[in-house]
Amino acid sequence: MAAARKNLSALQSGQVSQLLLPFLQLGEDTLDAFEKGLSKAIETDLLAMTVKQRDPAAFEYLRPSSLEEALQYLADLGEDAKIMSGGQSLIPVLNMRLSTPKYLIDIGRVEDLFYIREEDGYLVIGALTKHRDVEFSPLVRKLCPLLIEAVRWIGHPQIRLRGTIGGSIAHADPSAELPCVIAALRGEIVIAHADGEETVTPDEFFLTYLLTSLQPDQMIKELRFPILPETAGYEFTEVSRRHSDFALVEIAAVIDLDENNEITLARLAAGGANPVPCVLEDAEEFLIGKEPTDEVLEEASVLGSEQVEPDSDLHGSVEYRRSLVKALTKRALQTALKRAGGTKG
Ligand SMILES: Cc1cc2nc3c(=O)[nH]c(=O)nc-3n(C[C@H](O)[C@H](O)[C@H](O)COP(=O)(O)OP(=O)(O)OC[C@H]3O[C@@H](n4cnc5c(N)ncnc54)[C@H](O)[C@@H]3O)c2cc1C
Repeated sequence: MAAARKNLSALQSGQVSQLLLPFLQLGEDTLDAFEKGLSKAIETDLLAMTVKQRDPAAFEYLRPSSLEEALQYLADLGEDAKIMSGGQSLIPVLNMRLSTPKYLIDIGRVEDLFYIREEDGYLVIGALTKHRDVEFSPLVRKLCPLLIEAVRWIGHPQIRLRGTIGGSIAHADPSAELPCVIAALRGEIVIAHADGEETVTPDEFFLTYLLTSLQPDQMIKELRFPILPETAGYEFTEVSRRHSDFALVEIAAVIDLDENNEITLARLAAGGANPVPCVLEDAEEFLIGKEPTDEVLEEASVLGSEQVEPDSDLHGSVEYRRSLVKALTKRALQTALKRAGGTKG
């Protein structure tokens, strides 16, 4: 573990590219957790890490053309294999030899996983759908405009053209936008394996920084977002050091009111403020049945900031991140309120 700490501090003090940001967020607390055996796999990756490494270890390249074929590869190869979708997060990881799979299963051409549709009260999106397709989908705009607001914050257009929603959820970066949205909306993640499918909640899926409950023989098939009432207002906002950087802190908010101007629905989640997306349940509960006065929004944002447990790192202290949660929660609620009642931005 001493070597892992040395590697980490070398990364933190060196000239690093944005691609390394997810790994910089492995702070002391996380390393302590790894020491206690929470994630032997990532500990091993850290020990194996060589900062100057720029090329991947040799692997066999496999390109299934159907979901069944991909799942069979996973069943047969297990921990020796790694799935690749858009490659936007995986390729840097391979290049740094943070992961050294024997087989790379490129699912980028599995056409069964490209879709956006409405189904039983949910907006359902296939895992290989690109961020850019979500951003410009009329169906997403109609049924879940919060998602469009969030996706626009992801990297640059070039990243959004290749990156997929399944890859983003599987990568489980605590500052990524989509995990925050799916947590806020109480969406579902459909996981496929050779023997069938199962549906899990974000709470069950995200375990800690870059770690999920996905097993080696499983892959994400689709994401399911509950359709919001047409009258609901929404907002996704974040603070990052530069436009397109990963967020320091981000907030997803949805709010709806009845004819008496009382709040009937409140959905709030923070990203970048915990190892996993944090649903701001105390603030949500507080808002229900209240009129949205400035004092009420202020109190909700204080409750939100008290619920998160951020880590301190190169980019911000615990106190700074907590104060961002408070400020952004209030700002997001104010914008969501302006949009409530059916005035979609
Ligand atoms: C410069 C740059 C800036 C970026 N900025 C942001 C940002 O601001 N916000 C943000 O959220 N993201 C950002 N990203 C990441 C981007 O959104 C990626 O698209 C996303 O994180 C991963 O999607 P992908 O399809 O490229 O996945 P890949 O890189 O192919 O895979 C990522 C991980 O997920 C696994 N995986 C992929 N698909 C599946 C699946 N269907 N089932 C199970 N496991 C799977 C892979 O095995 C791998 O471990 C940025 C990337 C770059 C290069």
